[in-house]
Amino acid sequence: MRVGFVTLGGGEPVRVQSMTNTDTADAAATARQVSELARAGSEIVRITVNDEAAARAVPEIRMRLEDEGLDVPLVGDFHFNGHLLLARYPQMAQTLAKFRINPGTAGSKARAADNFRSMINAAIEYGKPVRIGGNWGSLDQALLAEIMDENARRPEPKSAHEVLLETLVTSVVRSAELAEEYGLGRDRIVLSAKVSAPRDLWTVYHELANTPYVLHLGLTEAGMGDRGIVYSTAATAPLLAAGIGDTLRVSLTPVPGESRSREVEVTKEILQSVGVRRFAPTVSACPGCGRTSSTFFQELAQEVSRYLALKMSDWGTRYPGVEALKVAVMGCVVNGPGESKHADVGISLPGSGEAPRAPVYVDGELYTTLSGEDIPERFMRILEDYVERRFGAGAGG
Ligand code: SF4
Repeated sequence: MRVGFVTLGGGEPVRVQSMTNTDTADAAATARQVSELARAGSEIVRITVNDEAAARAVPEIRMRLEDEGLDVPLVGDFHFNGHLLLARYPQMAQTLAKFRINPGTAGSKARAADNFRSMINAAIEYGKPVRIGGNWGSLDQALLAEIMDENARRPEPKSAHEVLLETLVTSVVRSAELAEEYGLGRDRIVLSAKVSAPRDLWTVYHELANTPYVLHLGLTEAGMGDRGIVYSTAATAPLLAAGIGDTLRVSLTPVPGESRSREVEVTKEILQSVGVRRFAPTVSACPGCGRTSSTFFQELAQEVSRYLALKMSDWGTRYPGVEALKVAVMGCVVNGPGESKHADVGISLPGSGEAPRAPVYVDGELYTTLSGEDIPERFMRILEDYVERRFGAGAGG
């Protein structure tokens, strides 16, 4: 499927997604944050479209992004009044690359079915894909009661918690089937079912993986700081490793003052850690122990990481494939040479009591031994030469 110019599902790379937290009605601030997220690597960005002012701002946000040369697709997030906004603001509907609809927040009980249908009709009219996203916190209560009753009649009833998860899956799948009945192509439907516990996410997405729809993956209410990162990783990595999920968003509650693009960085790290995407070279560093008395190797590992991150804006275009580069920075002779040999370029720094020499390995062979004050600078030069040789225009000749 296409979301703007981005292809999604059907064996395409798992796409990085994020969401703004600005007031969408403030077009300048929202465009600025979308730009920040896109530049950090978000391939799709979602914005809330919660009222008329937000709906009116969408075309201006798009225009501001185009002025910057950014074609990142924008997804509109609709709740409660999406059917009205999509009907009243055709330019907004046309500008968005995808609509996100939660059947559990499509309006009052009496109107929800009609409102859902109106939004699907809008997607058909404007030729847009739709994410049908259920959420743990906004479960269809009537459906839950129905499945609870059905469960009570089963020979081996499930626990109430299992029924909740079953209801969430059933809700989004039924909504997707309804959307198809209304005429929306299956190839225009993305599903998500967000829960806040990693194990629940595994259960829910293993069920969704049996459906024919493209899947948006993410844990809701993951939390702040370390907790948010750990929970999101624990929840999504096993699914991604099993080939489940076509796009990932990590919902982190930003620590005050922290950039919103942190969620993009974490998403990329998760995708790279399970080997489904590669965005940047990896730096392996040992954790350090009593065998190394100084923090020199930790500082060098940090310096190398910073250096690679800085260089990537240039290397990414000049040296195709450079994101596969593996660098090792190790603290002593115990595991240093071994690990360094497994990297493309590795350095083993002297541990306590060892001679002040740092052997450098390139492609598994001892390349040189560094010593003295300028080890970091000389190591970076070796790295730079290696990248030019291996990934530069003359490489492979
Ligand atoms: S490589 Fe050396 S310093 Fe690093 S953890 Fe292993 S034994 Fe400790």
